[in-house]
Amino acid sequence: MPALLEVRDLWKSFGGVRAVRDCTFDVEAGSITGLIGPNGAGKSTAIDLISGFLEPDAGVIRFAGLDVGGWPAYRVARQGLVRTFQASRVWAGLTVMENMLLAAPAAGRETVWRAVWTAAQLREAEDADRIQARAILGDFGLLSLKDDPAGNLSGGQKRLLEIARIFQARPRMVLMDEPLTGVNPVLGVRIGDGIKSLVAAGMTVLMVEHNLPFVERVCGTVVVMALGRPIAHGPLDALRSDPAVVDAYLGQVVASV
Ligand code: ADP
Ligand code: MG
Repeated sequence: MPALLEVRDLWKSFGGVRAVRDCTFDVEAGSITGLIGPNGAGKSTAIDLISGFLEPDAGVIRFAGLDVGGWPAYRVARQGLVRTFQASRVWAGLTVMENMLLAAPAAGRETVWRAVWTAAQLREAEDADRIQARAILGDFGLLSLKDDPAGNLSGGQKRLLEIARIFQARPRMVLMDEPLTGVNPVLGVRIGDGIKSLVAAGMTVLMVEHNLPFVERVCGTVVVMALGRPIAHGPLDALRSDPAVVDAYLGQVVASV
């Protein structure tokens, strides 16, 4: 079985800066894989390339057997590969529930099926989405806030809403760039549990994150990047004694604590 995501010899330069070079790694279906490494290692650029927000200079990105390298983000997303950003993105002026419903398949159903579905059928689909959204918001502790504008949520709650929306939309794979940015430790635990439940529900996660205890708790395996390319992969625990990883990253982390 090939991996769900296969990245092969990926390259991307910005002017003279080789942000990603010679980058090859796999993400297995059903895994939570961490992408870690020092600042400037090329992690965010790799996520941008895989999700179609940037076009590679060279290399192959294969998702579920399809060559998606260079596809625009909306086409990649349509195959079920979506991303979150370092700063959470919710529609601040819409309610928490409306944010959930925008993530739901019914939005697509309506445009596609408007011509053939009766009003009653559309209402039924929307009701099903609302029922699902209520259940998910309940799981994430956000149900009591469902009628509040999403802009009023704390940083951590916005993150939870983003994850709740992923649940609602059920893509095959999610790329997350630093999901703990701006999140307090209590909500951090909830976010970790939320990410684990995405995977329990059949999704696959690739996650950039600097918080190593969190990575250790949530990610079964990690890819360590330095200077644009992976230098090691495996369970974080096993990599702690890898001299290349210590030199490139873990040594700095320990030194900075
Ligand atoms: P990381 O997410 O691992 O911190 P990035 O992918 O953000 O690393 O950056 C990798 C390198 O590419 C850095 O040297 C960064 O300054 C550079 N870089 C990233 N994006 C751009 C851009 N849009 N224009 C120019 N240089 C960039
Ligand atoms: Mg980054």
